[in-house]
Amino acid sequence: MTKFAYFEGAIRPIEEAKVSVMTHAFNYGTGWFGGLRGYWNAEQEQLYVFRIRDHYLRFLDSGKILMANVDETVDDLIRATVDLLQREGYREDCYIRPLGYKADAMIGVRLHNLHDRITIFTTPFGRYIEDEEGARVCVSSWRRVDDTALPPRGKIVGSYVNSALIKSEAVLNGFDEALVLNHDGHVAEGSAENFFIVRGDSLITPPIHANVLEGITRRTIVELARRELGLNVVEREIDRSEVYVADEAFFCGTGVQVVAIASVDHRPIGSGKMGQITNRLRDLYFRVVRGQEPKYAHWLTPVHQSEAVTA
Ligand code: PMP
Repeated sequence: MTKFAYFEGAIRPIEEAKVSVMTHAFNYGTGWFGGLRGYWNAEQEQLYVFRIRDHYLRFLDSGKILMANVDETVDDLIRATVDLLQREGYREDCYIRPLGYKADAMIGVRLHNLHDRITIFTTPFGRYIEDEEGARVCVSSWRRVDDTALPPRGKIVGSYVNSALIKSEAVLNGFDEALVLNHDGHVAEGSAENFFIVRGDSLITPPIHANVLEGITRRTIVELARRELGLNVVEREIDRSEVYVADEAFFCGTGVQVVAIASVDHRPIGSGKMGQITNRLRDLYFRVVRGQEPKYAHWLTPVHQSEAVTA
């Protein structure tokens, strides 16, 4: 159970972290957010937050798109998060949700001349997709929001209606997740995950300008694939039919972590089971985030007895 939140500049009991129904962001979707994970390492008795600085840099960038003017710096947000997690005292995996919002209690759609606030709360968190070893996926009948209408490179509250439409359609039709096409008709990503395919020795993912989120896990996978597996990583457009003939496919994201895709539109991907490259990347990812790969310790912020100075 969540006990605390960072709210109006301080850590307070969660019951006190409340906003009015008149709040601008509640009425118009004028908020932005982030999503981070804390990983519990039982052997080391340590909770590690993965790539906290990169997440908060993207969080502040999302705010920039909404003309946000906030008091907190990246370092303030890192400190507040570590403080919050220490107070919650988690000894298990958890999720961290920073949320920025236009806080004025007023009617009037706009971005300028409004007051921005940041809140952060955390919650214990396990799996996101039940079958992590082989998700059944469809192509959504919805299209991804476009940079010309509602920029998907940042995490803007209102644009998650697009994600909710995509996810509910998929699940209610019996699938685990959906791939969504952008307005050019190329594959963008999942409802809340970036997307990769494997063809031969190449790992391929859509470029950011294909209307995908600037995913931190996506960046992590690209680096691990190049450095540790020596794969040729290519950012380029992917057609729907290219997914059908790919050797492997997977989703990645903070929530979903790395999830193999077993089928798309009822067509098995590769053997229909988790492929070798996905398996290797997935194992490596889990070792890195849980603090079992010293080489990547710079991506981890230890929460307990921490000065919160790491990246
Ligand atoms: N795409 C979308 C639309 C998302 O909401 C997320 C989850 N934040 C991702 C991709 C994955 O991003 P990240 O790896 O930074 O969590």
